Amino acid sequence: MNYRDFIAGYFSRQWRAAGLGLNLALVVFCSILAMTLNGYAFAAAPKVGTQAPGFYRMTLGNFEITALSDGTHAFPVHKVLTKTSSIGGQSVPLDQSSPGEADALLAESNLAVPVAGSINAFLINTGSKLILVDSGAGSLYGDCCGHLVDNLRAAGYAPEQVDEIYLTHLHADHVGGVAPNGKMAFPNAVVRVSEADADYWLKDANETAAPELLKSMFEGDKASLKPYIDAGRFKPFTYGEELSPGIKPIASPGHTPGHSFFDVESNGAKLLLWGDVVHVGAVQFPDPAVTVAYDSDAEMAESERLAIFADAAQKGYWIGAAHISFPGLGHVQAKDRHFFWIPANYDAAPTAN
Ligand SMILES: [Zn+2]
Ligand SMILES: [Zn+2]
Repeated sequence: MNYRDFIAGYFSRQWRAAGLGLNLALVVFCSILAMTLNGYAFAAAPKVGTQAPGFYRMTLGNFEITALSDGTHAFPVHKVLTKTSSIGGQSVPLDQSSPGEADALLAESNLAVPVAGSINAFLINTGSKLILVDSGAGSLYGDCCGHLVDNLRAAGYAPEQVDEIYLTHLHADHVGGVAPNGKMAFPNAVVRVSEADADYWLKDANETAAPELLKSMFEGDKASLKPYIDAGRFKPFTYGEELSPGIKPIASPGHTPGHSFFDVESNGAKLLLWGDVVHVGAVQFPDPAVTVAYDSDAEMAESERLAIFADAAQKGYWIGAAHISFPGLGHVQAKDRHFFWIPANYDAAPTAN
């Protein structure tokens, strides 16, 4: 080996050694980096545990509809669901008249008690007016609920912009939001409900005669409506006429004496805001005979439900429901004498439909 080969060989060995060392260093570095990044990816990121703001938009003809969530609560299925007994026509707990039915029907929808029950309301922008249908529970149901105003703001509106509030009926989870803790939440709005419900729920004599379960509703109603009554902005309606162009109340007594639907129509499109036709969809679509302990007249509520299920399925209009899983917008379908709920297809950019 001459001197030149010796030098070349020497440097070649050095480079290989250096290369090996570099490779080893790179492997070690990458391993440490991977372990570190792994640490960042899977270490203590706290769970957030909240949903996106509760609003969902759809277009109905020339109207813009915004479903608003007031929250969800553990719906007391076994306490509240009832059925009219075939003997004597009395309303009895479902678990008594049809043991196991509620749990079996829930299981068919992959649900089990406790079921989260939605409380939904609907904001209609007619182009000239902002109308809210139902208002959630306000402060009457505790911390679960009363989120309607936050969600209204998240949806791009302010409570001051609401011109009118139409209530399907005067149960706490529909009226409470007009005045949480007795304070007017919609300072420029006129509140409207059927005369029949106003007459019933605002009379002390009816409170005395009411079943125990419903007694607290009377106090909630009076406290919620007082600021609007005092301000001359509580105006009960009778049926037959539109309350605003395209929006008409329809009598649907049973759940309460003056329970109302609101028929909302624009440019050939129709949405029926049907209030409390359904409390537990997974049970009441397959078995519309299931009633709730809150029904003032359970038999009447049951026949109203059957009639509106059939009508909605036959005519195919939109439904907006207070207690179907948020946003509570969808259609009713009938197949082989059974009813189904078809929820709205999510649309990130709602346009005319
Ligand atoms: Zn109700
Ligand atoms: Zn309700």
